Amino acid sequence: MGHAGNLIIVSGPSGAGKSVLVSGVLQELPHVKFSVSYTTRAPRRTEKNGVEYFFVSREEFLSRVRGEEFLEWAEVHDNYYGTSRKYVDDLLRQGEDVLLDIDVQGARILREKRKDAISVFILPPSYQVLRERLMRRSLDAGFEIEKRLKIACREIDHYRNYDYLIINKELGVSVEELQSIILGSRCRTAVRSESAKSVLETFGGIDAKDP
Ligand code: 5GP
Repeated sequence: MGHAGNLIIVSGPSGAGKSVLVSGVLQELPHVKFSVSYTTRAPRRTEKNGVEYFFVSREEFLSRVRGEEFLEWAEVHDNYYGTSRKYVDDLLRQGEDVLLDIDVQGARILREKRKDAISVFILPPSYQVLRERLMRRSLDAGFEIEKRLKIACREIDHYRNYDYLIINKELGVSVEELQSIILGSRCRTAVRSESAKSVLETFGGIDAKDP
């Protein structure tokens, strides 16, 4: 078995186009899996349990919090969302890279816990575009555009804390950029150290003689 996979955190305001971007990458790049979170929000029309999220009651969610099952969790738009430690770690152990679509609070916690995580912030090209995207997307009953815009204004300021920034103007370009980040992260020296050792062994243990 090769090295463990990489943890890739994707955050950005609602309407920045994160989910479409993430599914574009999942379709095209092998060995990348999506971390399916737990949430207390109701499923949208096309969503299926276990695909976009595991949909659970508040009671079940809080009992999982008490059981320390989450790597991070947060309250977003009046609902709870959490990343399952087991789900993520099982995939990483299998050598899969894991993509997480989580909010800025969760991302901060996770960056602290997993120092080698790669973080990517997605910005919409402008306020006007974000507003239009949110207006076209009336997903939930009571979907509050103004509230989401206000939250977006607060969230976008966090982009500085992330390793990478994608300005999502053209989906095709953004998908390529996210793929490049993932491919680049696989080439990090620290990630390749095991493979490097086996190459160096073929040179007769030069590594061991390193001054
Ligand atoms: P939505 O309800 O539109 O699918 O997601 C709302 C927000 O919750 C998004 O910003 C998404 O990134 C965030 N989110 C989804 N899953 C998680 C999670 O497990 N943890 C945290 N902290 N945020 C999440």
